[in-house]
Amino acid sequence: MKRLVLAGGGHAHLDVLKTLAAGRWPGVEVVLVTPYPRQIYSGMVPGWMAGHYSLEQCAAALVPLARAAGVRFVEAAVSAVDAGRREIRTDRGERLAYDVLSLAVGAGLDVSELAGGARLLPVRPLESFVAGWSELLASAPSGLRLAVVGGGAGGVELTLAARHRLQALGGGSVTLIAGGGLLPGHGAAVVHRVEAALAAAGVEVVPGFAAGVAEGLQVTGSGRLIAVDAVLAATGVRPPAWLTTSGLALAADGFVAVGDGQRSISHAEVFAGGDVASRVDAPHGKSGVYAVRAGPVLSDNLRRTLAGEPLRPYRPQRRTLYLLATGPRRAIVSWGGFAAEGAWAWRWKDRIDRRFMRQYHVPPA
Ligand SMILES: Cc1cc2nc3c(=O)[nH]c(=O)nc-3n(C[C@H](O)[C@H](O)[C@H](O)COP(=O)(O)OP(=O)(O)OC[C@H]3O[C@@H](n4cnc5c(N)ncnc54)[C@H](O)[C@@H]3O)c2cc1C
Repeated sequence: MKRLVLAGGGHAHLDVLKTLAAGRWPGVEVVLVTPYPRQIYSGMVPGWMAGHYSLEQCAAALVPLARAAGVRFVEAAVSAVDAGRREIRTDRGERLAYDVLSLAVGAGLDVSELAGGARLLPVRPLESFVAGWSELLASAPSGLRLAVVGGGAGGVELTLAARHRLQALGGGSVTLIAGGGLLPGHGAAVVHRVEAALAAAGVEVVPGFAAGVAEGLQVTGSGRLIAVDAVLAATGVRPPAWLTTSGLALAADGFVAVGDGQRSISHAEVFAGGDVASRVDAPHGKSGVYAVRAGPVLSDNLRRTLAGEPLRPYRPQRRTLYLLATGPRRAIVSWGGFAAEGAWAWRWKDRIDRRFMRQYHVPPA
C-alpha cells in the first residue's frame, strides 16, 4: 500500500478529493492534513463581507468530502517537511511518512510592520480573517474607521466590500493605502474604472507604504498619520517558514519550485499547486485562478506517479480573467487590457463562483 499525503485543503486539493470521490485509486492510502474542517473560497469573501452571502455559501466542508473520497482527515497544520526522509510533521507532534506528497497550503502574509495601536486583521489565514471581521462588525457597527493596506485585486475588493457594509450599517470610513500603486499588472482601463469606483464609494486612496503606530498607521515618506480603529492587511504573500528547512528546491521567491506537471524540480515524488508553488519554467502571478486550474493536473499527475505512469504536461495560461466585486452587486471585468463593468458582471461572477462551490458539496450522509 502506498501513501499519498495531501498537505493543505487548498483549491487544487478540492479537485483531488472530488476525483477520488468519483473513483478510488487502488493500492493507495490517502491522508489529508489541514488545520480547518472547511476551505473558505476567497473569491466569494468580498461578497460575504458586503453582506451578499452567508459564510456557509463560501466554504467547502472538507470532512464530508474526504469521507466520500475515502481519505483520512487529519485536522492539523503541517509544521515541517523532511523531503530527504519523505516525512511530514504536524503542529500536533504527529509524524507521517509518505510515498507521494502534494502541497496546497497556500501562502502567508508578513504584517509585522503594520502592528500598532489599531486592531490588525491580516487577510490570511482566511479563517482568522472572517472571525476577526465578524467580531469587528459586532463590536463597533457604526462610525468605524478602517484602513486597507494593499492595492492589489484582493485589497481593492476588500476595501469596496467593507465600505459597502459599513454604509449599510450606518457609516464609518475606509482608506486604502496602496504602496505599490493600484492593481499592478492590470490594464490602464481597469485601473481607471477601479479608481472611479473607489471615488464614488467615498474611499480615499493614499499612495505610499504604511507602518503601524499607536494612532493607527503612518505613511512612510509623507509621514502622514492615519487614525484608524482597524487595519485590514492584504499585502504581498510570503512562503510558509518551514519550507526553508524542507530540503525541497525553492524558487527565488521562496515558494516550492515546480516544473511541468506541477512536480518539484528537486524531488520527483513531491508536487505542489496554488500559491505555495512557483512554476520556474512558466512563471505566473499568484491567484486563485491558477490554484483552481492546477487541481485537475495535480489529480491526474498524482494518480499517474503512484501508478508509475508518465506525467501529463501542463502549461498555465498566460492571461487570467478577473471579476472584481465592487461592493454592491456589481463587478469590474479585467481581461488583458480590456475592462468592462456592470451588474451583469456581478451576475456572471456569482454564477461562476456558485457553480465552483457546488462541485464540492457533499449532501449529509
Ligand atoms: C479577499 C481576497 C479575494 C481574492 N479574490 C480572488 C479572485 O477573485 N480571483 C483570484 O484568482 N484570486 C483571488 N484571490 C487570491 C486567492 O485567494 C489565492 O491566490 C488562492 O486562495 C490561493 O489558493 P491556494 O489553494 O493556493 O491557497 P489557500 O486558498 O490559502 O488554501 C490553503 C489551504 O491550506 C491550509 N493550510 C494552510 N497552512 C497549512 C499548513 N501549514 N498545513 C496544512 N494545511 C495548511 C489552509 O487552511 C487552506 O485550507 C483573493 C485573495 C483575497 C485575500
